[in-house]
Amino acid sequence: MPEKEPILVALNPSPILDLMERTLRAAGFDVAIAHDHSGLERCVQETIPVLLIIGEKFADQDGLSVSSNLLLRFPTLPIILYADRDSIELVKAVLKRGLSGYLYPPLKMQDIVDEVQKNLTRARQLGDWVRREVKRTTSSLSEKAAISEAERGKLEAIIANIQDGVIVIDDNQKILLVNRSVCDVFSLNEKEIAGKFLADIIPNADLKNMLHLSSKSPLKNHEINFEDGRVFNAQYTPIPKIGAAVTIQDISYLKQLDRLKNDFIYTVSHDLRSPLTSILGYAELIERIGPLNQNQQDFLRRLQGSTQHITNLVNDLLDLGSLEAGFDTLRETVQLENVLKNSLDMFDAQIKKKNINLSSHIETSLKPIFANPIRIRQMVDNLVGNALKYTPDYGDVQTILLMQDSQIILKVQDSGPGIPPQEQSHVFDKFYRATNAPDGVRGSGLGLAIVKSVVESHQGRVWVEANAEKGSLFIVILPTMD
Ligand code: ATP
Ligand code: MG
Repeated sequence: MPEKEPILVALNPSPILDLMERTLRAAGFDVAIAHDHSGLERCVQETIPVLLIIGEKFADQDGLSVSSNLLLRFPTLPIILYADRDSIELVKAVLKRGLSGYLYPPLKMQDIVDEVQKNLTRARQLGDWVRREVKRTTSSLSEKAAISEAERGKLEAIIANIQDGVIVIDDNQKILLVNRSVCDVFSLNEKEIAGKFLADIIPNADLKNMLHLSSKSPLKNHEINFEDGRVFNAQYTPIPKIGAAVTIQDISYLKQLDRLKNDFIYTVSHDLRSPLTSILGYAELIERIGPLNQNQQDFLRRLQGSTQHITNLVNDLLDLGSLEAGFDTLRETVQLENVLKNSLDMFDAQIKKKNINLSSHIETSLKPIFANPIRIRQMVDNLVGNALKYTPDYGDVQTILLMQDSQIILKVQDSGPGIPPQEQSHVFDKFYRATNAPDGVRGSGLGLAIVKSVVESHQGRVWVEANAEKGSLFIVILPTMD
């Protein structure tokens, strides 16, 4: 079937050109003639011919080179070379350059039509194949796009319906995504908050603190307290190239249970204190009312030791109870360096007995803190006491006191066994003892819980950095008085 687009003939004026034009027109083709190179370029660009017949010599150019250049730009254009004579070199050159066919004299009209038809059919088949392939590729691409769209939909549905609150923020802590649970809990409108700072949308000191600390500290779980009494557990997970995901769970009911459990423990502790005092008192009296034999004295010492241990435990529990209930209100000017020096003096005998190499660096002109001196001493005693208790004989213990901005920093470092990383967040829990605590080193797991309560009731922070090679480093930061 004749083509709408023309067949372009680029031959020098000659009887052959006339013959070709006539023959093609007679066969029903549209024909365009190019007389020189610029005419050829124009025709190729503007009319987009279905086929090109070009002379071996065209204008002052080499037809083969012109064809090669055209094929670089229009790889599917069928090109027939017309040569003055048949030769094996010509066939080789045509094949090498990727032309579709060639003609040479003597030419019959039917030869021209047959060659053109053959090349057009081949070009059409090629075009059909390309179109089919493109269609196949695009349909597989759209299938893939549909699948990823479906996956995205599924993922969105999961995030939206997840019970925990999910917040995704960018590196500048601006909100990228929040799920329905977060919107319900904080009465937010999902559409209005995208792109805003998380700390502005949910104004909360604990949350702000977590965002500030999390980029530096490896601590994953944080407690977020709200004024209305709700408590959330929040996890901060950095996401490379995006920012971070914050997931939150409402743990108010667990806190309530914890409070009930604590109330029970404190009541029992309180009720145990009087009978314990009386046991200790009578144990002392036994010796005074008559001589005891060696065995009796030995049993009495053990009785007193155990009773003293329970009394200490009960006292620790009562201290914790009063700290957690917010009864720690006494505040006066305290110089932390004096507290530390007194504490180290108290431990002097133990330091000597264990041959501990103690060093203490205290910066000069430290500002005072506004604190309860008894509780602060208790905190320091527990940290120094632990360092001495867990460090083996001939080990090192170092205490450091320094100022940074309006904060005072206390560091207690030792060369003991350290604390396994996965347990470091638990050692401040009540009754928690690390799994690597040396055999024979006794303790009830309350010291660090007291440390944490004391530090927090003074608006400070405490954490531990520890590993088996370097021992433990406990760091306390407390605000100083202006
Ligand atoms: P106590 O109530 O008598 O202080 P404790 O020392 O066992 O008992 P915490 O002071 O609360 O309890 O410490 C909790 C746990 O943390 C310890 O049992 C111990 O496993 C670990 N720990 C604390 N300090 C250190 C330290 N400096 N080096 C190694 N482990 C430590
Ligand atoms: Mg301890």
